[in-house]
Amino acid sequence: MTAILEAKGISRTYTLSGGMMKKSSKLQAVRDVSLYVNRGETCGIVGESGCGKSTVARILLGLEQPDAGQITLDGQAIASIPRAELSRRVQPVFQDPYSTLNPRRSILETVIHPLNVHKVGDAPSRDRRARKLLDQVGLPKRSFHAFPNQLSGGQRQRVAIARALALDPDILVCDEPTSALDVSIQAQILNLIQDLQRDLGVAMVFISHNLGVIEHVADRVAVMYLGRVVETGETRKLMQRPEHPYTRALLESVLTPDPELGLPDLDLGRSFPDPTNIPSGCSFHPRCAFRTSVCEDSAPEPRQIHGASVECHLAGNLGENRLATVD
Ligand code: SF4
Ligand code: MG
Repeated sequence: MTAILEAKGISRTYTLSGGMMKKSSKLQAVRDVSLYVNRGETCGIVGESGCGKSTVARILLGLEQPDAGQITLDGQAIASIPRAELSRRVQPVFQDPYSTLNPRRSILETVIHPLNVHKVGDAPSRDRRARKLLDQVGLPKRSFHAFPNQLSGGQRQRVAIARALALDPDILVCDEPTSALDVSIQAQILNLIQDLQRDLGVAMVFISHNLGVIEHVADRVAVMYLGRVVETGETRKLMQRPEHPYTRALLESVLTPDPELGLPDLDLGRSFPDPTNIPSGCSFHPRCAFRTSVCEDSAPEPRQIHGASVECHLAGNLGENRLATVD
């Protein structure tokens, strides 16, 4: 199978200015990340907030340039693809649709807008296409002339998805598309995204902090920790047999949801480490219950285990029943 979108060795570092008395510091948001998405497939990216997944999304969308590495779309470097063409072929769906919908455009106009910008067809065919898409995402006809502030959060995300599909993109990059929604609505939107993907065959990158959500939608998954992909493989196998202690910790947090929040959330013991001060060796070592003296000094190389790629010195030898993090 050929990849429609591929990232090879991408890195992105930001310089944070330190204010009056402090030195500036470097934030290594993305560190040598490689991943690919095949046609018609969903690649999930999962990790805690601040692990670099949104930066990867912005780089894949061409909204930001990596310091190193390359992105190709159907074999062509995205740096060489004209901006208008790239934005037609790779479309985003963001967390908060409200901030990306123009409050002065009705939802019908919202979906027609990209067709106008890219001069697709004539006015009647644009209108027909937009109505069909709004229907496909489950919005009733009576809402077509409503404005974003008259819709619920879930309805707004449906509009954002219809707009993202308007130009018949090769790939959708969805960055936490359900995280801002009520729990009761999240499953509806996830099901909608899955149905659309099945019907339209569009490839997807789907980003979430929640491995339970990723399990629902992604064929393959890349687990990110402090800017690196620490484990990647087929979702089903990875959920059955996580080989990296961090993946295990994510899985444990999904299996023991916080009843107060109603949603599985992360409780990984010690607080999230500082991406401006990445630990030596394996960057997960301060939180890892499996760590040995080697882990502090030497960064693990990726290893192939049961079809997954895992960055851990102990990959394949973790044993069954130990918790993955110290607390
Ligand atoms: Fe834990 Fe060591 Fe594996 Fe890192 S390399 S995840 S510290 S066991
Ligand atoms: Mg984010």
